[in-house]
Amino acid sequence: MIKENLEIVEENIQKACKKAGRDRSEVTLIAVSKTKPVSDIRQAMDCGITVFGENKVQEIRDKTAEIKEPLSWHMIGHLQANKVKYLPGVACMIHSVDNDKLAAEIEKQAAKHDLVMDVLIEVNMAKEDTKFGITPEETIDFVKRISAYEHLNIRGLMTIAPYTDDPESNREYFKGLRLLKDEINSLNIPGVKMDTLSMGMTGDYMVAIEEGATLVRVGTGIFGERDYSIV
Ligand SMILES: *Cc1c(COP(=O)(O)O)cnc(C)c1O
Repeated sequence: MIKENLEIVEENIQKACKKAGRDRSEVTLIAVSKTKPVSDIRQAMDCGITVFGENKVQEIRDKTAEIKEPLSWHMIGHLQANKVKYLPGVACMIHSVDNDKLAAEIEKQAAKHDLVMDVLIEVNMAKEDTKFGITPEETIDFVKRISAYEHLNIRGLMTIAPYTDDPESNREYFKGLRLLKDEINSLNIPGVKMDTLSMGMTGDYMVAIEEGATLVRVGTGIFGERDYSIV
């Protein structure tokens, strides 16, 4: 099933790239394996997938302890500052930076490991009460405040669009995130050159790609529905 699902997702990504006049190589598929067993991850690996996304630090730690092959792990979920210490050298990118305390802690822990951590700023484009992320209006000031950190590379922006049956209704949020990234780049903030937009999930990744996504985060569309009762 995972193999067939991956074929469908790949076909859809190519379709969306074609429609938008983009090259397939501009878009990276992150297979979101949260709550799914290592055996599912291995099936995806057998199909050539090397980039995975998880939303819990403990789950990334457990899975990277078990799977020794070189893979890229993206931390895509809400992150508490006290868990950051487990991520340098384990996660290749943190998608969910949305407050000063968290940014300061990532700087501190990355410095300790003598590495530079790639991060994205999570923006709550639709201003949903239930979601993390900063508002679009706060984003530029936030980026300026954390831009001087030497062990933190602000690669771009991430958003989680509202859950909907109509992907077109999220187009405005994806477009808004792209325009916000372009605006930030136009400000020439020292040390900030954004090249990454993490947007689009199972329900709306094609629209997100049309609006400029460089990372799409697809879980259900690859691994099937998640069962939260067993985790
Ligand atoms: C779970 C999750 C996804 C994947 O969602 P699907 O709808 O299953 O594709 C993407 N991004 C984040 C931040 C997630 O937590």
